[in-house]
Amino acid sequence: MTNSFNTKEIIDGLSGEDIFSTSIGLTYKDFLVLPGFINFNPSDVELETNLTKNIKIKRPFVSSPMDTVTEAAMAIALALQGGIGVVHYNNTIDEQVSIVKKVKRYENGFISDPVVLSPEHTIHDLDKIKEKYGFSGIPITEDGTQNTKLIGIVTNRDVDFEKDRSIPLSQVMTKKLITGYVGMTLKEANNILKTSKKGKIPIIDAEGKLVSLVSRSDLKKRREFPDSSKDEQKRLRVGAAVSTLVEGRDRVAALYEAGVDVIVIDSAQGNSIYQIEMIQFLKTNFPGLDVIAGNVVTKAQCKNLIEAGADGLRVGMGPGSICITQETMAVGRAQATAVYKTASFASKYKIPIMADGGITSIGDMANALAIGASTCMMGSMFAGTDEAPGDYFYENGVRLKKYRGMASVEAMKAGGDKRYYSESQRILVAQGVSGAVAAKGGVQNLIPYLSQGLKHSFQDMGYKNINELHESLYSQQLRFEKRSEAAQAQGSVYGLYSYNKPAMRGE
Ligand code: GDP
Ligand code: 5GP
Repeated sequence: MTNSFNTKEIIDGLSGEDIFSTSIGLTYKDFLVLPGFINFNPSDVELETNLTKNIKIKRPFVSSPMDTVTEAAMAIALALQGGIGVVHYNNTIDEQVSIVKKVKRYENGFISDPVVLSPEHTIHDLDKIKEKYGFSGIPITEDGTQNTKLIGIVTNRDVDFEKDRSIPLSQVMTKKLITGYVGMTLKEANNILKTSKKGKIPIIDAEGKLVSLVSRSDLKKRREFPDSSKDEQKRLRVGAAVSTLVEGRDRVAALYEAGVDVIVIDSAQGNSIYQIEMIQFLKTNFPGLDVIAGNVVTKAQCKNLIEAGADGLRVGMGPGSICITQETMAVGRAQATAVYKTASFASKYKIPIMADGGITSIGDMANALAIGASTCMMGSMFAGTDEAPGDYFYENGVRLKKYRGMASVEAMKAGGDKRYYSESQRILVAQGVSGAVAAKGGVQNLIPYLSQGLKHSFQDMGYKNINELHESLYSQQLRFEKRSEAAQAQGSVYGLYSYNKPAMRGE
C-alpha cells in the first residue's frame, strides 16, 4: 500500500529565519541542521565557493591575518590546497610585501618578470637570490635586464660544487639553450619542458630578448595540487590585511604592485567613516583589486560597507578564541546570529560573507556555511601547525606553539594596535590574550581532513555544494533545531572514565 503525504505534514524543525528571529544571540553549538536526503557520495560534494564577488576558491578555508598564523609558509600551504591565507600587517610594509611576493612567486605559468642576472654577476649574487626567493634557475642577459638579449642560463647544478663564489656567471653559465618563442601556449611550452628534460625554458621574442620563463617544478606542483587557488597567471592567490590608517594606503599601493589578490581591511568595528573612505580610496585607485571589508555583525553595518564598494564582508565581533572584546567593550554579537543576519542581507547583493572567529571543529564550519557564510576564517585552527610562524616549545611535556590575539598587549606592543583605533594612545586596552595551542602537524594533512569531514557533513544535510545549501537556506527548505544545554551535553562525549580525542588530521 502506498501512502500519499501532504508536504505540510512533514515539515519539521525551524527555518533559518525562525531560528534567528529570537531575541537571544546564538552561536554554532546552539543549533543543529536537520538531516536531509542522501542520494550521492561525499566525493560528489564540491566545496568551491566565493571568497569575494569576483574570486572563487575551491575550498572555504581562510587563515586569519595574525602574526602567529599567516606568513608565507601558511599562505602557500593553504593556497596549494584550495584555500587562501591573509598575511598580517604587524610588520613593516617591506616585510609584508616580501611575504606576498614569496607566495606569488611560488608557482607560475609563464613567469613574466623572471629574476635575471648579467654575465658579470657572480655565483655569490646567485646565492643571495636563492636565499631570498628559494630558486636558482636564472636566465642571463647581456645587461642583466629583460631589455637585452638572452645569452645563457645558470642553474644550481652549474655552481653547486664551485668553492670560489666570486667567479662571474659568464664562466659557469650554460650557453647552448633550448628556448620557446613568444606567443606559444603554456601547453606547448610545457611540452618542450617534458621532451627536453630541462628544468627551465626561457621564452624569447624575434630579437632574442627574454620575455618569460617556464619552470618544470610548476608542472609537478600542478599535478600534485589540482585544487590550488590560482590567479590568471597560474600564480597562487594570497590576501593581505591593512588598517584604515593613512599607513594602510601606502601598504595597499605596495601590495598591489607585488600582485596581492585581495585586500582585507582589518578593523574590529568596521562601520566607520575611516573604513568607508578606505574602501572608496581602494576602489578609485586600484580598480580590479577586490576588497573584503569588516568586521561587521549587523545589517546596518553591512549596508554601509556594501554601499562603499566592498566585494566581500568579514563577520565577527568577539567570538575569537583569543578575544576579550565582548568582555572589555560589551559590544559585539553572538557569532551564528551575526553570520545569519549579515548573510541574509548581503546575499541579496551577491556579497559573500566570511565567518571569522570561533570555529573550532568541522561541525562549526558546516553550521557557518549552512547559515549563509561562504568561507570560514580561522586563527586557532591553523595556529600550532608547522606552517604557522614561530617555533615549537614544550610546557609540561606538551609540544606547543604560541598563539596570540592581535589586540593582546604583546601583539599591540609589536604593532598590532592598528586594528583597534588606539595607535596614538599611551594606555593599551587589550581586546585579546596571548597564549599557546597544541602542535597540530602540517596544514597539508589538516586541510584534506577538514575537507573530507565537510563533505560528509554536506552529504548528511543532503546538499552537493555551497550554492545549493544557500538556496535551500533562503527558500526555508533547510531546517534547523535549537539545542538545550542538556542536548548539547548529550551531543558530545560523556560518561567515560577516559577516552582518546581523534587528532584533527585523520588517522
Ligand atoms: P630552481 O631550479 O632552483 O630555480 O628552483 P625550482 O625549479 O625548484 O623552483 C622554481 C620555482 O620558483 C617555480 O615554481 C617557479 O615558478 C618559481 N619562480 C618564481 N619566480 C621565479 C623566477 O624569477 N625565476 C625562477 N627560476 N623561478 C621562479
Ligand atoms: P579564532 O579562529 O582563533 O577563534 O579567531 C580568530 C579571529 O579572532 C581573527 O580572525 C580575528 O578576527 C579575531 N582576533 C584576532 N586577534 C584578536 C584580538 O586580539 N581581539 C579580538 N577581539 N579579536 C581578535
